[in-house]
Amino acid sequence: MLLGILKESAPGETRVSLLPESLKSLLAQGIAVTVEAGAGVAAGASDAAFAAAGATVAADRASLLAAADLLPVVNAPDAADQAQLKPGAVVIGFLRPLDAPATLATAIDRQVTLFSMELVPRISRAQSMDALSSMATVAGYKAVIAAADLLPRLFPMLMTAAGTIPPARVFVIGAGVAGLQAIATARRLGAVVEAYDVRAAAGEQVRSLGAKFLDVDLGGISAEGQGGYAAELTEEALDRGRDLITRTAAHSDVIVTTALVPGRPAPRLIRKAAIEAMRPGSVLVDLAAPAGGNCEMTQPGVTQHIGGVTLLAPLNLPAEVPVDASALYARNILNFLGLIAKKGELAIDLADEVLAGACVAHRGQPVNPRVAKLLEQANSLTR
Ligand code: NAD
Repeated sequence: MLLGILKESAPGETRVSLLPESLKSLLAQGIAVTVEAGAGVAAGASDAAFAAAGATVAADRASLLAAADLLPVVNAPDAADQAQLKPGAVVIGFLRPLDAPATLATAIDRQVTLFSMELVPRISRAQSMDALSSMATVAGYKAVIAAADLLPRLFPMLMTAAGTIPPARVFVIGAGVAGLQAIATARRLGAVVEAYDVRAAAGEQVRSLGAKFLDVDLGGISAEGQGGYAAELTEEALDRGRDLITRTAAHSDVIVTTALVPGRPAPRLIRKAAIEAMRPGSVLVDLAAPAGGNCEMTQPGVTQHIGGVTLLAPLNLPAEVPVDASALYARNILNFLGLIAKKGELAIDLADEVLAGACVAHRGQPVNPRVAKLLEQANSLTR
């Protein structure tokens, strides 16, 4: 069996799906590894390091695509790459099956088995494969570092002979994995931190990091959906959050916003008025930009200056920390591979809830029911 490591082709992508240190256990079970030349360079893994770890380095991407039985990737291969895949091959990565299912059609037609890291169920047994959490952790950290770099103020309180500098005030919206890491990072830098989330359960975690949790009375509705995620709220409930955010923005130097509802566009929580309420020089980082953004002014991927406030809407912050982001991702991938490759052979048991949940398609057929429905809708639109 051949495992191929591709050089990621998406613009700005610097991560790689596996690193030289990932190869030992694969090679030990008789899986051969070929890596596309240059695949790991931006993530600190040279071709020589891959070769020293036992991989073959190949310059010819097309041959690698045609020969690989297993293809761990960061991002989904594009349609041209998919058209070259070997039927029966297995592709594993961030395939965006809920927001861009139609882009996987070519691979599904070619009977390629697709596993999406976004769909790995968040159960205890699969925690070591939870790549969404790994990348959210990196993004939450980096968002605060980016904001601290741009802010024309210091984060910590400083008491000097020249007087006292007050600490920066950071407001984190959405206290999931990224938000909690943003809170922890801002606290480590000495900022005073407030946070808001619709899930009441987030309050305890926020407080345990030394931040203040802001509560909103949602009128008795439950904001907790399936699997511990937030549910989509009514406009009225969203408005209560928007009011709180506008009030809090007025005294915040930095806002890091991370609110998401799985499979839905990001909730629009930050009005233009909230940005206008911020002091000149303040910074807003919209980590929900890939899902459209939490701020009504956000243009995904574009940095804007609005009345003296800088609005960042990064699409891929983990790619700005490629060494550690790749190290975490590679471990998630390696743990996932442990479920489907045993003693050097592919053994895909779709009775396993982790595999069934993560499987987009197998033998030409959609598997995950949510993705199957979306693919059906996409097909009926093109018919
Ligand atoms: P996410 O990225 O889907 O959302 C980020 C945060 O935004 C969430 O905390 C959510 O409640 C919040 N949010 C959504 N709509 C909002 C709104 N209108 N206003 C304010 N906040 C809003 O979530 P996530 O970071 O992936 O994690 C969500 C939950 O899952 C957390 O409780 C986390 O601890 C849990 N989790 C469990 C596991 C596991 O058991 N393996 C792994 C990761 C996360």
